[in-house]
Amino acid sequence: MPLATLASILLSMPGPLAGQPAAFASPRRSRYSLTIPLDPPGTQPPKPRIYGPAGRPLVVIDAGHGGHDPGAIAAESGLREKDITLAIAQAIKDELIRSGRVRVALTREEDRFLVLGERSAVAHAIKADLFISIHADSAQNGSPANGATIYTLSEVASDREAQLLAQRENRADIINGVNLGRQRSEVASILLDLAQRESMEASAAFANLLKREASGLIPFRPDFHRMAGFVVLKAPDTPSILLEAGYLTNPADRERLVSEAGRTSIARGVRRAIEIHFARKLAQR
Ligand code: ZN
Repeated sequence: MPLATLASILLSMPGPLAGQPAAFASPRRSRYSLTIPLDPPGTQPPKPRIYGPAGRPLVVIDAGHGGHDPGAIAAESGLREKDITLAIAQAIKDELIRSGRVRVALTREEDRFLVLGERSAVAHAIKADLFISIHADSAQNGSPANGATIYTLSEVASDREAQLLAQRENRADIINGVNLGRQRSEVASILLDLAQRESMEASAAFANLLKREASGLIPFRPDFHRMAGFVVLKAPDTPSILLEAGYLTNPADRERLVSEAGRTSIARGVRRAIEIHFARKLAQR
């Protein structure tokens, strides 16, 4: 996508919003200016196409990153997370359409940038019943880490690695000039909401279900369910998970993530968990 405009944005972290007079800033806070490319302002994300039979529960699959945000990049191969997440999201969509038990929509079906808030806003706008964001991780400092991890939203991160990952994933927004400090407080205040707490419980239950149903199809890390303040998961009324499908820095994972067989396995595991999730909900009525 061509980058339409250049905007010079004054950022201070933590601190006042961009563009506020310097007099409001504490002299101890460092200020610096960045010149970064922006997509055209004010363009609402188009409502996604919804596939599947009317009346069925609606699942939104979110392919992480896109457009001028490539996500993680594998060092030798140059593989980009944004391409891998889109291919996996499309495989899940195809699998769900074939099965025909739910409706499905993707937040993006091409190489396009979306602000994190737009992704959950899309799910909210079309009244999604479940939101699944797809990502691929990269380990730091030559770590051999491998396997998939399921993340759900929490005010307090389950561990330092989860906290750092959420910080990395949330950086997608700072590329587009959004103040991260403001987002942190927004996540915190939304977490006080009761609806959000119910969604968080449902999200955690779905994380366990996904692990159970997809084991044998997706290799999970031993600590497969972790929590942190992911901005993309903050839809207050939609159970939401973020699946880090594997590590681009691990050769076996990389092969699994880019192969059709690997994508099909992920799609089957996710589809099985989704179908049982909604069958349970139906039984509870
Ligand atoms: Zn990512």
